[in-house]
Amino acid sequence: MTAAGGDQPETVAERKMRFLFGLRSKGVTDARVLTAMERVDRGLFVRGHFAERAYDDMPLPIACGQTISQPSVVGLMTQALSVEPRDTVLEVGTGSGYQAAILSHLARRVYTVDRHKRLVREAQGVFQELGLVNITAFSADGSFGLPDQAPFDRIIVTAAAEDPPGPLLAQLKIGGIMVVPVGQSDTVQSLIKVTRGQTGYDYEELRPVRFVPLVEGMGTE
Ligand code: SAH
Repeated sequence: MTAAGGDQPETVAERKMRFLFGLRSKGVTDARVLTAMERVDRGLFVRGHFAERAYDDMPLPIACGQTISQPSVVGLMTQALSVEPRDTVLEVGTGSGYQAAILSHLARRVYTVDRHKRLVREAQGVFQELGLVNITAFSADGSFGLPDQAPFDRIIVTAAAEDPPGPLLAQLKIGGIMVVPVGQSDTVQSLIKVTRGQTGYDYEELRPVRFVPLVEGMGTE
């Protein structure tokens, strides 16, 4: 990518400005979310020749046939989650670790889980490199949540479920928020915001999204 209208390669500062401008133009306006996203270099979570597209607003392939989500979708989901500084957050679908790294700047504690051991191991390496000591990553089937660490103030699911998984609803604190893409895989899904009240759950449909499916059981790698 070159600077607009010129032949010079883009500088790091220009790249950062383009990245943040792109997020704002897609509706990511929350100052805390933008600051967290400015602090986390997406290039560290994408490997191989796709790394050069890390600052473009597109999903990219990662190991195990999975994808790192599009930055604007990460921003909009994080914004919808309204994370408070004292919150404990669960992420289902660690993938590259990018979303968890952003959450680590917004929350007190982040638990993230993926069914692929390899993705968890690689993400842990990046968390360590970045000194993100408030993230704990587990390899497990996240559709059951993490009963030992529950309940959570916030839950974010970054793979599409046919319905919000029951164990995750149960592990949400009263007053807590869960953001989850819901729908059949390979079709357009809806991003749903679930808020747990004193007596039940409130569901709000936010926008169409497209995620890899939430799959039962552990992955092969
Ligand atoms: N949040 C990630 C992107 C996630 S891609 C990032 O920032 O890069 C979706 C991830 O969900 C994949 O890594 C996939 O392995 C994982 N996944 C799918 N089903 C799962 C399940 N039942 N439990 C845990 N992880 C699951």
